[in-house]
Amino acid sequence: MDNKNLHPESLMMGFGYKPELSEGAVKCPIFQTSTFVFKTAEEGKRFFELAYGLQQAEVNEVPGLIYSRLNNPDLEILENRLCLWDKAEDCAVFASGMGAITTVMLEFLQPGDVLLYSSPVYGGTDHSINHVLPKWSVGHVEFNASMRKEEIIQKVEQEQGGKLAMIYVETPANPTNALIDLEMCREIADHFSTDERKVLVVVDNTYMGPLWSHPLQLGADLVVYSATKYIGGHSDLIAGAVLGNRELMTRVRGLRTFLGNMCSPFTGWLMMRSLETLKPRMETQAANARQVADFLKDHPKVEKLYYLGHLEEGSEQYRIREKQYSSSGAMLSFDVKGGEAEAFRFLNGLKLIRLAVSLGSTESLAEHPATMTHADVSPADKLKHHISESLVRISIGVEHHEDLIDDIRQALENV
Ligand SMILES: *Cc1c(COP(=O)(O)O)cnc(C)c1O
Repeated sequence: MDNKNLHPESLMMGFGYKPELSEGAVKCPIFQTSTFVFKTAEEGKRFFELAYGLQQAEVNEVPGLIYSRLNNPDLEILENRLCLWDKAEDCAVFASGMGAITTVMLEFLQPGDVLLYSSPVYGGTDHSINHVLPKWSVGHVEFNASMRKEEIIQKVEQEQGGKLAMIYVETPANPTNALIDLEMCREIADHFSTDERKVLVVVDNTYMGPLWSHPLQLGADLVVYSATKYIGGHSDLIAGAVLGNRELMTRVRGLRTFLGNMCSPFTGWLMMRSLETLKPRMETQAANARQVADFLKDHPKVEKLYYLGHLEEGSEQYRIREKQYSSSGAMLSFDVKGGEAEAFRFLNGLKLIRLAVSLGSTESLAEHPATMTHADVSPADKLKHHISESLVRISIGVEHHEDLIDDIRQALENV
């Protein structure tokens, strides 16, 4: 059977792993080693020539293992498996989502460049754009889900004179699930691209990938992940990933080698284990989220619900969801009637659902964006992005949906 015809979920158990290279072990062992023995000096010389790009590999020649900052079997096999979901040519895994995101920014932006980004983005990403990149003289312009293409182009030209190098998009936005049209982002990038320089579209696909959305198929150049979330999926590791074509990924991988922010062999091994159940986990989470959202929709103590499965048919947001996503996901937020006190009473009353930040895991987690994940967003931006004092965010896990609903019902009774 040709691997090309198999679905990714059928390949997560064995793809890229050869038992005969590991004493017949059915599972890929943890290659907990810093360095690898060369058979001969000639072999070592050849491996370095390939690793440093001094020579091109022959047909069917595989680059050899050198040192775990450059390559390690657990990371390589994991990267090959991640490529299958996003139909990417290449992948590099990182010590964290932030490691993946900042490496992409540092590799493809230089002094004088401008970054256009969707707002709101993850807090760490926002901090990097607003406080780290300016130290390297990289400017930025923000846009949001309510703006149209012409308006965004005009803003870039007015604020930064159009020296655009990268568009960075996070969709759906956290915590209100606002959607950004990736096709529109590609068009804006093409508008600012020149023969010498192509403007890159980078998408943080943490919320909907790698199962429900494939931005590389929708015009993105690079996809980044916090693998801490759905990919890891068990709240027991921190990791990141970047995927894209071979040319761009050679540069990402190159900078990773010199920053040294790859993930460890053990973390890589944990993620391979996680990927075996990625699809059933995510599907169960999404099905549970729908049940919970349906329960919350008309609940008298709920002011407003943000859930992708309840978008108004015919609306712009609905159109983007239909185009970009094969599921409504497993993240939802809602305003409890009242303010912070009522939201806290709800959160403190939860018994099964844990009160913690992070998302995408087997267990359901609830938090208060305004004072937790989005604590340092300015009051004006909080207002603009509907991050109110009464808003709570829940990442739905794989528990039985009736137990989740019972827990939410009894916690709402506290309010
Ligand atoms: C968590 C998260 C990140 C940061 O990832 P870490 O693994 O915590 O470094 C980036 N983007 C999104 C959307 C996230 O949810």
